[in-house]
Amino acid sequence: MEISHTLEQPLALPEDLPVDIDSIKGFLDPQEGATLYRLAAEAGELGPCLEVGSYCGKSTVYLGSACKLMRNTLFAVDHHRGSEEHQPGEEYHDRDLFDERSQLMDSFHHFRSNMRAADLEEFVVPIVAPSAVAARHWSTPLGLVFIDGGHSLDAAMTDYRSWSRHIVPGGYLAIHDIFPDPADGGQAPYEIYKLALASAQFELVAMVKTLGILRRIQ
Ligand code: SAH
Ligand code: MG
Repeated sequence: MEISHTLEQPLALPEDLPVDIDSIKGFLDPQEGATLYRLAAEAGELGPCLEVGSYCGKSTVYLGSACKLMRNTLFAVDHHRGSEEHQPGEEYHDRDLFDERSQLMDSFHHFRSNMRAADLEEFVVPIVAPSAVAARHWSTPLGLVFIDGGHSLDAAMTDYRSWSRHIVPGGYLAIHDIFPDPADGGQAPYEIYKLALASAQFELVAMVKTLGILRRIQ
């Protein structure tokens, strides 16, 4: 398949990125990031890209840099209040991201300064809202959707239902945190991945670590 060929090409290394990617807090393997970069570069021919779940902007830098290269746009959807696992007392809580004034998580400040540092403000449109709210009046066809938001089944299903229908034929649906073995992690992303394949609207392109890549057929 075309994309397998593309994935074999030398990967975009962090040195190629406009910022020190390790300085950005986040949850993305460099190989997954490099894959997102290549997919977004390809999707540049098809339509704008959209991610759900930006956090501090690590995935956004990979996707956004490819959009910049293609003179395309990345919509970056996140309410910036953190997922369940980011809340105080939970496993992935980061005190630097807790806003004392509001007594809430707030990753938007980090996100925004990272977009500026990466010189991506002309190519990334932050949408600070819950995924379902951002999707409510959405009608723009998309070349790529990357789902990396909440990991409850409800959140993942909402993301899948809200955004996958806007992907153009030939466009990509990338889903993060796919763990076929429940012992390795939560099952919600895997459930929507299976749903997408079962719908016969998507075909599997590749799996890179926990990143599942599908392509819209019809
Ligand atoms: N892609 C990021 C990691 C995302 S972590 C990286 O590369 O590091 C998951 C993010 O999803 C969190 O920032 C959280 O605020 C966001 N999120 C969770 N549920 C959401 C929802 N329903 N709508 C919008 N954003 C959501
Ligand atoms: Mg993730």
